[in-house]
Amino acid sequence: MNTPEVSIIIPVYNEEAGLPALFARLYPALDALATGYEVIFINDGSRDRSAAVLREQWQDRPDVTRVILLAANAGQHMAIMAGFEHCRGQIVVTLDADLQNPPEEIAKLIAKMREGYDYVGSIRQNRQDSAFRRWASKAMNGLRERITRIKMTDQGCMLRAYSRSVVAAINSCAEVNTFIPALAYSFAQRPSEIEVAHEERHAGESKYSLYSLLRLNFDLMTGFSVVPLQWFSMTGIAISLLSALFVIFLVIRRLVVGPEAEGLFTLFGIAFFLIGLTLFGVGMLGEYVGRIYQQVRHRPRYIVGAVLETKE
Ligand code: UDP
Ligand code: MG
Repeated sequence: MNTPEVSIIIPVYNEEAGLPALFARLYPALDALATGYEVIFINDGSRDRSAAVLREQWQDRPDVTRVILLAANAGQHMAIMAGFEHCRGQIVVTLDADLQNPPEEIAKLIAKMREGYDYVGSIRQNRQDSAFRRWASKAMNGLRERITRIKMTDQGCMLRAYSRSVVAAINSCAEVNTFIPALAYSFAQRPSEIEVAHEERHAGESKYSLYSLLRLNFDLMTGFSVVPLQWFSMTGIAISLLSALFVIFLVIRRLVVGPEAEGLFTLFGIAFFLIGLTLFGVGMLGEYVGRIYQQVRHRPRYIVGAVLETKE
């Protein structure tokens, strides 16, 4: 195997039903590129037959296929990290395994990269996801745009291309929680974007529950911005100023009119409001502290069980 120009990285988690259809479209699309390529599948601790299906594919196309079997589920972004550390291409393309990102669109990304960009993101046209997902993505995109310096039209699409230098920069990070498109953007010197088609999931169901989507968005927001913390302290300052004024008013009122007995529930209301805010602040701090804790443990981010590849 000579060093290929293009590396394709595909994380796979419980995708046995869709993999054959992926192979059937991916390899012809890559052969049509007429350049050296390698496909790296990362089995992210699937509990179904995905690993076996990938092994068969490796035996079928050992010249261009490599399979990394992670010993346990590490999450989509960590699986891609494992792929980044094993890939050799000058242009590295990430792709979902469920055919939501049409493999035929890879050619467009590569053409754009060859124009001299070091990171090409993508914008999904006619996104084929539930209305709730589309709405939530829009909200999260907007929030990210405001609180981080990362500019992306569509942060959620994983069909992207990265240059060798951007991948090397990502590989030098030892982050435990991360969001790869944002991390790549922060290292890119000449980023660009193109529009790509989007399809419905070919088989199976989304591997993201509402909970894991929420976790992922916390990774993005806390990983690339401390603005949420700053917002909290600003609100804290404003509220304490207001309550100081309120106390002064009550003292004066007590001296002039006498003590007040009514308004007890107003006070309760205010107290609960403040308790709520405090809890929110503690939780917010926890988000950061939790990440610091995970980082300082220096645990391996994933463990490679085996690598299936043909050595030259
Ligand atoms: N994936 C993974 N590990 C996980 C969850 C997902 O490797 O813990 C893979 C999954 O197999 C797919 C890609 O990440 O190739 C995107 O997942 P999915 O299509 O479920 O996400 P959605 O399109 O709903 O955002
Ligand atoms: Mg999908």
